[in-house]
Amino acid sequence: MAVNYSKLLRVPAGARVKLLDRNASQTFGLTREDVGAAHPDLRQELADLQELLYAAGTHSLLVVLQGMDTSGKDGTIRNVMEPVNPIGVTVTPFKVPTKKELSHDFLWRVHRETPPLGMVGIFNRSHYEDVLVVRVHEIVPPVVWRKRYRHIVEFERLLTDSNTILLKFFLHISKAEQEERLLEREADVGKAWKLAVGDWKEREHWRDYIRAYEDALSETSTDHAPWHVIPADRKWLRDHVVMRTIIETLRPYRKQWLAKLEKTGETAKAELGAFRAARTTT
Ligand code: AMP
Ligand code: MG
Repeated sequence: MAVNYSKLLRVPAGARVKLLDRNASQTFGLTREDVGAAHPDLRQELADLQELLYAAGTHSLLVVLQGMDTSGKDGTIRNVMEPVNPIGVTVTPFKVPTKKELSHDFLWRVHRETPPLGMVGIFNRSHYEDVLVVRVHEIVPPVVWRKRYRHIVEFERLLTDSNTILLKFFLHISKAEQEERLLEREADVGKAWKLAVGDWKEREHWRDYIRAYEDALSETSTDHAPWHVIPADRKWLRDHVVMRTIIETLRPYRKQWLAKLEKTGETAKAELGAFRAARTTT
């Protein structure tokens, strides 16, 4: 299992994404059993990396989750973040903007929710809605949303220049899988609360959404803030590759975070030593 998923699933900067060419039920030859067997070690590694990120306080991590209705944004957050200490994580869902939010630029409400150093921030939907739903429903004209690609790339550059590690995931499901999931919600009383007639209506715009996603992913995948297309028809595979991509991205920082902790620890010890010495002499 030496595959590097963060590389495999990434949309290369400047490349054109064709979602039809990306199989939503791809498994990379993995089975549910393989994934289950790897899980305890991955959980431990993610928990360790998050603790280091928190303690070192030199970086933050922002994870952006996008996908069609029922693509599994909530489930991914629940499953992937489960081993992580809640003290170090914030989850922000982005809904239809309020009147106040609409009276500002589209990034205003987003920037306020970005994670400070030491923290992990998860966006359940994001500023990308402003080039997706807004485009599909013609809420603003093309001359307005087209400029937003550049605003987004520059905004994300500001964040990464400020030590935010930025990962973006598009949870890619097939139209057939979405139908199954919507019908399942109807049949299951435990899931019916998630039902929305709007989801069936949105489904009629499937092709428009695919086109909007292809443009958004192609225009805004950069080396500093790359998009990953996650095959999401199988929940176990989806969670596994998202988790691995996060771990593979954080792993290179491990050494410098440990070094920072050691230094902080030495400074604190020296201060404590000086404090005690001063007390015994007075
Ligand atoms: P849900 O994720 O099911 O809670 O739904 C949130 C809804 O808010 C979705 O239908 C999104 O398309 C919508 N939404 C989020 N951000 C925006 C935005 N900037 N403009 C318009 N609708 C939005
Ligand atoms: Mg919904």
